Amino acid sequence: MVDFQLTPRQMELRDIAKRFATEVMIPAAEVADRIEDPEASFNWEVIREGSKRGLRTLTVPREYGGEGADVLSCAIVGETLAYGDLGLAVAFDQTWKIMTSIANMANDEQKNRWLPKIMDDDECILATAWTEPMAGSDNVWPNQQPGAGIQTYAEKKGDRWVLNGTKRYISNGGLAKVYQIAARTDKDNPMMNSLTAFLVPSDAKGFEVTEVWDKLGQRCVQNGTLEFHDVEVPEEDQIGEVGQALPALANLFIRHGSNIQAGATVLGVAQRAYDLSLQYGHARIQGSVPLLGHQLQQIRLARMAMKIEASRSYLWRTAWSTQLEEMDRKNAMLSKVFASESAVQVCQEAMEFWGAAGYMRKNPIEKLMRDALSFLHSDGTNDVLTLKAAGFLEDPPQVDDLVYSPRVAEAAAGR
Ligand SMILES: Cc1cc2nc3c(=O)[nH]c(=O)nc-3n(C[C@H](O)[C@H](O)[C@H](O)COP(=O)(O)OP(=O)(O)OC[C@H]3O[C@@H](n4cnc5c(N)ncnc54)[C@H](O)[C@@H]3O)c2cc1C
Repeated sequence: MVDFQLTPRQMELRDIAKRFATEVMIPAAEVADRIEDPEASFNWEVIREGSKRGLRTLTVPREYGGEGADVLSCAIVGETLAYGDLGLAVAFDQTWKIMTSIANMANDEQKNRWLPKIMDDDECILATAWTEPMAGSDNVWPNQQPGAGIQTYAEKKGDRWVLNGTKRYISNGGLAKVYQIAARTDKDNPMMNSLTAFLVPSDAKGFEVTEVWDKLGQRCVQNGTLEFHDVEVPEEDQIGEVGQALPALANLFIRHGSNIQAGATVLGVAQRAYDLSLQYGHARIQGSVPLLGHQLQQIRLARMAMKIEASRSYLWRTAWSTQLEEMDRKNAMLSKVFASESAVQVCQEAMEFWGAAGYMRKNPIEKLMRDALSFLHSDGTNDVLTLKAAGFLEDPPQVDDLVYSPRVAEAAAGR
């Protein structure tokens, strides 16, 4: 029997998140989204309050006092938080995924040193920094040219690594207390075996946030440019093997749920656009009946519901599959692509449904549209993720396979 029932704890976490999203995040985001200065919009009270409710440390392993949540639980809670606000949800969600990545890459001594620090500080959120001015998709679809891609360089000097370089667009940049950084430890070879990961605290000497980007959406979280000028990292803060950070990144994206959680958070935006539209559709009268008295508009809402349900099913099943040895890796990428494209389509339908009111900043729909657009590019562009997923397509059926069609072979031969 296939069981689609959530566990009691998953339902409980979803309820905690729903209450937090509606009571705390929505009012905070309504203010923060309108603040012009991107350095002034972040609301720390939301993080502190979320931390007290156990939401910040969702993926900290249980033996260190956290929830030890799996990818599916994060997808459920992430969607619910993003229902409140996508940017603030990203502040939490980045922390969960990087936490999982650290817990998988770090040795016991590192976990014993870093996890209690993260656990005990209500303001400790995390960031992961790969993207650089000249290395964006080249990190996601690894550029095989020697020396291409990431240029931030870590040089070994005695028992320290010395980092120099620039990262940009980093979520939680300027907010995080701990950064997971990917740097080259080999300048001459292709990236695959040349990147090493480090943990760098925000107060490291020589580390500077030089720009907080002004964005269309996700205005309630910061995306920063980070500069490293001779930043010294003790060798005990190198995480994972030298030269093996890129395979670890692939794990972060796929098995540890980064893509799935990205899709889940943007799904929360779509769900909110739908719920608000449902309410509006009953309240707004045109043609002497509520909007939803018109069949055309009923169809619109039904199509929105279909895309939301399809995204959720795809994301949850893929999240569940991350525990399988033989998980189908392409689904991690494609479920994010599907959910983010669907969310943009749902928001566009909502814009149409609300008429001019949807376009007005006083009303909630235009913000959702701006927010939804961010995940077409964040966590890997949809084009590049689809390109990568295509590399995992199955082998074609062979002559002795049940599904082999002789007619296909004939057609391919031009007959
Ligand atoms: C809101 C937001 C949050 C982000 N947060 C983080 C973060 O926390 N950490 C981090 O490291 N990065 C982060 N990023 C950066 C993000 O991962 C990159 O923007 C993304 O990988 C694309 O890189 P790029 O913007 O340089 O685009 P480019 O790589 O310059 O791509 C430009 C266009 O070319 C296409 N393209 C590129 N290469 C190929 C190819 N080989 N074949 C076909 N088409 C190609 C792309 O699909 C895209 O359409 C964030 C971005 C955003 C928007």
